[in-house]
Amino acid sequence: TMAAPVTLTSLSGKKITVPTGLFINNEFVPSSDSQETINCVNPATEEPLCSIVAGSAKDIDLAVQAARNAFKTTWGKNVTGFERSRLMNKLADLMERDAQELAELECLNNGKPVRIARDFDIGDSVQCLRYYAGWADKIVGQAIDIDQKTKIAITKHEPIGVCGQIIPWNYPIMMWAWKVAPALACGCTIVMKPSEFTPLTALKLSELIVEAGFPPGVVNTVPSFGSVGGAALSSHLDVDKVAFTGSTVTGRRIMESAAKSNLKKVSLELGGKSPNLVFESADLDQAASWAALGILYNTGQDCTAGSRVYVQDTVYDKFIEILVEKAKATVVGNGFDEKTGAGPIVSKVQYEKIWTYIDYGKSEGAKCVLGGEKRSGKGYYVDPTIFTDVTPSMKIVKDEIFGPVLSVGKFSTEEEAIKLANDTPYGLGAGLHSNDANQCMRVSNALEAGTVWVNQYNLLYNNVPFGGKKQSGIGRELGSYALEEYTSVKAIQWNY
Ligand code: NAD
Repeated sequence: TMAAPVTLTSLSGKKITVPTGLFINNEFVPSSDSQETINCVNPATEEPLCSIVAGSAKDIDLAVQAARNAFKTTWGKNVTGFERSRLMNKLADLMERDAQELAELECLNNGKPVRIARDFDIGDSVQCLRYYAGWADKIVGQAIDIDQKTKIAITKHEPIGVCGQIIPWNYPIMMWAWKVAPALACGCTIVMKPSEFTPLTALKLSELIVEAGFPPGVVNTVPSFGSVGGAALSSHLDVDKVAFTGSTVTGRRIMESAAKSNLKKVSLELGGKSPNLVFESADLDQAASWAALGILYNTGQDCTAGSRVYVQDTVYDKFIEILVEKAKATVVGNGFDEKTGAGPIVSKVQYEKIWTYIDYGKSEGAKCVLGGEKRSGKGYYVDPTIFTDVTPSMKIVKDEIFGPVLSVGKFSTEEEAIKLANDTPYGLGAGLHSNDANQCMRVSNALEAGTVWVNQYNLLYNNVPFGGKKQSGIGRELGSYALEEYTSVKAIQWNY
């Protein structure tokens, strides 16, 4: 049948069996009404990996019904925080057990290095599940004594209900964990729609949902195209909340569908064009390391990529020299190779988009000091590319490229640096490098971003909130803040 599992062989020789059906009510099933498939490709070789079932709008509806039923019977208000915590910890243990296999599958489908997938994407996801498992039995309300005599109000933090979760292809496992963990901790049920480019690890994780012992319908996974399944989830009348990570264009559409259907709650983690400021007092070697990591981590396919670096004029030339050396040291290659620091670009579309921008950079008159040359041979590889002497109106400075392409510009005063940094509709991340503590505090205050990194870049922790200002999003993930996104407060007022 169309939902039969397939066995893939990774470069290490490992055989990995992947379910290919839709995961609804703890079973892998074919589509209820469509023969459409999603064809997965290995971006390192451009070869097909396998075809899986693509869910339709009707399948999304069946998954929502399963999630609603679970919410009413086995989850939601029918399960204690202790039990949710126990199941989540079990799931974390299983992910840890299968980390190597999951990492190899992530590498096959997404391209990212196995080592990084295992130690960071999966390592952090396991910790994320444990972190929110810790919260599951600690979600408490307040007792508000109105007059100490006959009137009191209590607040309850109730699970919001059925949550649609739409995730991108850049961190398939980690985005899964960031979405699933707080939702489960709060008692919500889930319909997950992974990206059509990278659905395989979400299907593999669905097997672990069953093994961990979650009741049927608590977590459902429907791989589907965005315009089909994503659209169906965001306009569904019985979905209480949709959580999304991806592009600003799609985020806007999701919010529109939510508004036009049932005003479901929306949280959005969108794009960025994050600035990294290097002041003359900074440790230039260290700042260059962070700036290189900021644009090259995950081959630049990162919503917080530090894609605009602005350097004080007095240290500009020296900094660029160091930066180019650091960037050169990052090996872009096949993710199964231990030396690889950054894998190929996830898909042909993204690969072509990046080259369009590199061409813009050249034609707009920026100076290309590293990369910018296509490789021959197979695989969607883009080598680290650095443009200097950029101006604010250039496309490479304004648009999110989502690749290893860095724009470097110059400033002379702190005021000018802040103005350049904030000159964008986005507001996700920002970095600054300086040895002057007062300057660090002043500039941190002035930067319009959800996260500011001082003398470092791109570090994320499960207990620190993450999200965007301006057009980079609505709501916060991680930390205790994410619990607010999955609960709704009820005030019960008593007359006694
Ligand atoms: P996208 O926003 O279209 O895709 C993200 C998710 O949204 C996928 O699961 C997709 O299926 C779904 N989706 C697509 N259309 C939808 C719709 N109409 N309704 C509901 N869901 C829908 O991103 P993309 O096209 O894969 O990538 C394009 C650009 O987005 C990238 O080049 C990059 O700039 C940006 N991006 C940002 C992030 C991030 O983490 N912030 C992640 C991926 C992509």
